[in-house]
Amino acid sequence: MEDHILEVRHLRKSFFDSKKKKKVQILKDISFDMKRGDVLSIIGPSGSGKSTLLRCIAQLETLDGGEVRVCNKNLVVPGSDPIRYAPKADLNEIRLSTGLVFQNFNLFPHLTVLQNITLAPIRVLKLEPHSARIRAMRLLKGMGLEDKARAFPCELSGGQQQRVSIARALAMNPKVLFFDEPTSALDPELTGEILKVIKALAKEEMTMVIVTHEMAFARDVANQVLFMDDGVVVEQGTPEYVFGQSKNERLQSFLSRFA
Ligand code: ADP
Ligand code: MG
Repeated sequence: MEDHILEVRHLRKSFFDSKKKKKVQILKDISFDMKRGDVLSIIGPSGSGKSTLLRCIAQLETLDGGEVRVCNKNLVVPGSDPIRYAPKADLNEIRLSTGLVFQNFNLFPHLTVLQNITLAPIRVLKLEPHSARIRAMRLLKGMGLEDKARAFPCELSGGQQQRVSIARALAMNPKVLFFDEPTSALDPELTGEILKVIKALAKEEMTMVIVTHEMAFARDVANQVLFMDDGVVVEQGTPEYVFGQSKNERLQSFLSRFA
């Protein structure tokens, strides 16, 4: 179906823990689905595997088991055990469908704002530099940053850098955009501008996964919320259900820290 943007089934991932000298299972059994235009907030204690989950889907980590489909393309061969990854062409297509916005912006420090945004469209999508720049300027304008095109990242505030990194991700036209704690490296007075940008994207029906510790925002922006703890999905449902109705004790104890 055209509408299936992301399907995750029984995803498992472990890391070798050098202190404990053994493998530790970080993601034990994660399943969820997203359709076009869905906004999913992922909440959970730090260390529960939220970043690892995003990184596995975005191919920044390998996974140990389970299935992931992005826009109906399999990341791993279904049913393979031990898992085998899909052919390179499929992996590339998945990589192009997923955009990632990190906590620490990860802009190229030696490139201008405009170059940061046009680099991948020119190199990877083979866009004409001229049209890549026109597109980038349009995105910058949407972020209120058109006057910063020639600035370097170090000349910008954290909030401005994060808006550039969102524009950079959008320039690749992803089918789904992942945000990993997009405001947690920002001063409190700068988080609002990022949350506003993400809300505007939600209104435009951008499909997004947002890992965040901003509970009011998580509730407000999403149509689905997933609460992870200790490598499993403990609760999953509408914001009304997860924040208002669920009686799950682990969730209650987690949410009470924000009250
Ligand atoms: P969260 O984003 O929910 O805070 P993470 O996904 O970053 O959690 O981390 C989950 C656990 O996995 C942590 O205990 C972390 O130390 C461990 N971990 C993450 N990446 C690695 C790695 N590359 N090697 C070993 N352990 C890792
Ligand atoms: Mg994290």
